[in-house]
Amino acid sequence: MNVYQAIVAKDDATAQLDAIEGIDNKECFTIVDYDSAAFLAHTTNTFDLLLLNLSDSSLAEQDKILWQVRSSALDIPAEILIFCLNESPLSSHLADGLIHAGRNLYSQVERFYERQSQLLKHKGNSAIDRFLAFAWPRENFQLTPRWQLQENSSYQYPLLACLGILEEQKILAQWQHTDILSAGDLVDRVRQCPRCDSEHLNYVDICPRCKSIDINSSVSLHCFTCGHVGEQGEFQLDTALRCPTCLTQLRHIGVDYDRPLERFHCASCDHRFIEGQVIASCHNGHKQRPDELKERRLYQYVLGPAAEQIASVGRIFDNRALQWGEDTSIENFSWLLRWSNASAQRHQHQHLLLFLNWEGVAEAITQWGEERAMAQIAELQERLHSVIRQTDVFAQIDSDKAVILLCHTSIKWLDQIAAKLASIEAANDDSILKLQVRNFPLPSQDLPENTQQWLLAHANKLELDHVI
Ligand SMILES: [Zn+2]
Ligand SMILES: [Zn+2]
Ligand SMILES: [Zn+2]
Repeated sequence: MNVYQAIVAKDDATAQLDAIEGIDNKECFTIVDYDSAAFLAHTTNTFDLLLLNLSDSSLAEQDKILWQVRSSALDIPAEILIFCLNESPLSSHLADGLIHAGRNLYSQVERFYERQSQLLKHKGNSAIDRFLAFAWPRENFQLTPRWQLQENSSYQYPLLACLGILEEQKILAQWQHTDILSAGDLVDRVRQCPRCDSEHLNYVDICPRCKSIDINSSVSLHCFTCGHVGEQGEFQLDTALRCPTCLTQLRHIGVDYDRPLERFHCASCDHRFIEGQVIASCHNGHKQRPDELKERRLYQYVLGPAAEQIASVGRIFDNRALQWGEDTSIENFSWLLRWSNASAQRHQHQHLLLFLNWEGVAEAITQWGEERAMAQIAELQERLHSVIRQTDVFAQIDSDKAVILLCHTSIKWLDQIAAKLASIEAANDDSILKLQVRNFPLPSQDLPENTQQWLLAHANKLELDHVI
């Protein structure tokens, strides 16, 4: 039986933790005024898990520790197991559960390290690599949103924020689409401004006639004798009611007077109405009717089938049917390439294979940082789709490399195609990234049987003799 080393952080108010079988509570230290330097000084030895034995009065400190560990602000692995004695606002999002009697902590720790050792260690540091390094070893992983005020939105997935995964909504949609995540329970639905996605909306009812916001709800009365309609205050005479126009005493509702359905009064145009018109406005000054707002659905997510493939093999083997105009996997692409080459030879068709490569990626990363450089390339790749035809087949090889098969296109069109592709580069105002295009006309006798290997080698500009 392995013995796992735990580090325990406690405060003055908590008692020593009970012994947990198979877990050695190696080092106990007290957090009174938490600061990260003191925390780090206690975590110099290697350890397998962190136990936060903190009382209710230290829950803010607990959240601070959780946030700092998960966002790699401390020099300890962001994905380390953390269990807490008490629940804090962030513990259900960033910790691995609560320490309580009867919980089999040991088997959870063991399972975590078993799965972590199976995880393919990627060299890359992309969003998906960082996310799976955290999520995959956790057998019952759940990604949960938190109701929390932010600049533009009202919900956040704290784990994604800690892992530095930007554009949360876009990423979640993409991962769900590619089966990396599966949606579980629906947590909430929020409305967004359709123009700027803001979730901070003010709903205000306005006068349906002049659109003024200066409206009041008022109780009005309607005199049957003369037909006068006015606010109830105008009719009040000590304890009785009297019409201010015809001076009739109003005794019985339904006989002398009634209350009109119009409950609202506009102070700008004097209009009386039953219901105001509702307008939702965001902080950017966009105004729309509630039925024009977008809806954002907040789900709890679990890992999907593709997560397992990526974690253990490194890429998704996409066996789904191809959608028109959508990217395909390199496996599908290779098969199609070989098939089109054979078919082109037989029927004397001409196709064109293009290798696209973004140059200057290293400089862009140095200048902008990896996250922004990758986002920029992703955006440029996205724009490629706008210039290729739906019948062209596109596959991404790497974040900065792609291949396109232009069916029934001969080499004589290359100049025009190059001009189209150059327009993408021109639209990119930063001159660091340059699109390099190489062509390979089909049919070709040189296409080997192992098309995929040939494609990858070609894309990486390796000498083919060295790889095949
Ligand atoms: Zn807006
Ligand atoms: Zn009257
Ligand atoms: Zn009005």
